[in-house]
Amino acid sequence: MDIGIDLGTANTLLYVRGQGIVLNEPSVVAVKEGAGTALAVGTEAKQTIGRTPGSITAIRPLRDGVISDYEAAEEMIRHFVRKAVPGRRPRTRMVVCVPSGVTPVERRAIVHAAQRAGARSVHLVEEPMAAAIGAGLPVADPRGSMVVDIGGGTSEVAVISLGGIVTSQSLRVGGDRLDEAITNFVRKEHGLLIGERTAEDIKLAIGSAWPVPGDDALESRTFTVRGREKVRGLPKTVELTVREVRAALDEPVEAIIAAVHSTLEECPPELSGDVMEHGIVLTGGGALLPALDLRMASATGIPVFVADNPLDSVALGCGKCVEDFDALERVMSAA
Ligand code: ADP
Ligand code: MG
Repeated sequence: MDIGIDLGTANTLLYVRGQGIVLNEPSVVAVKEGAGTALAVGTEAKQTIGRTPGSITAIRPLRDGVISDYEAAEEMIRHFVRKAVPGRRPRTRMVVCVPSGVTPVERRAIVHAAQRAGARSVHLVEEPMAAAIGAGLPVADPRGSMVVDIGGGTSEVAVISLGGIVTSQSLRVGGDRLDEAITNFVRKEHGLLIGERTAEDIKLAIGSAWPVPGDDALESRTFTVRGREKVRGLPKTVELTVREVRAALDEPVEAIIAAVHSTLEECPPELSGDVMEHGIVLTGGGALLPALDLRMASATGIPVFVADNPLDSVALGCGKCVEDFDALERVMSAA
């Protein structure tokens, strides 16, 4: 039994050898104060965010790319593995994708958690490597490939060649920061307090990094937001425009583009030449922000492509490692 796990800051995906992606749920655990076990994990737990009574907390164990809560992370992995593969799991090998910024202590913690979830052997793959493999980039070739994986808590920018990461950068700017930027904007400009789920809903409904060519209708769309008035505390409704949301997202979007710039600067010239020629590939949920690719291409002068199904890229790359252990042994580190 071979299982690949994309342990994301926002979503966890499980890939089973011979079956493909069998589970895709938010990386959230709901726990009750003082109680040892989780009340809910995954989709069910995410629904409780912002709606929990005082004694229940919705935890995102990997929120900023680091494991902030080991116990919750372990519980989450165990729960998902049992759910995806019920019954006996003989001789389980697991390939787990981890953000490239994790410390050796965190790597050990993840390995330990996977072992407690029933793994006999655990291999770790760096997220940008898995993302690049999943997006179909020729990672084993002597050619520079650039992948930008924009997740919930972090974005990872990496240049890969000959099966290894040549330069990479992990920044704590991803979908969550975009949501926060919307929350702050709505508070400052409209005096309205909203929760993180609402901010994400706004982003998904009318968020964009730039005007989208050929979609003039987008510019005139609005989103009705309900929240609480900052001053009087009463419920209030505000009509947000596409332009407002774009302005709100400007800063975190620029931060991601700046990371692409600086990674290119650090990259050996032959490899950055390859990237200029073949382009940059975007993966992760953030890649779906409309016109982010166009804005990045304009800022860098390099073509930018969004991977097919960017939310699945890391899990699919992890899955390739699981399907073909031997060929991909080189990009994995045994633990
Ligand atoms: P992680 O790997 O860190 O778990 P994901 O790659 O699963 O993260 O991406 C999750 C992030 O992508 C969330 O912040 C979510 O809001 C964002 N996201 C998902 N779909 C879209 C979309 N269509 N437009 C913009 N952001 C999106
Ligand atoms: Mg991810």
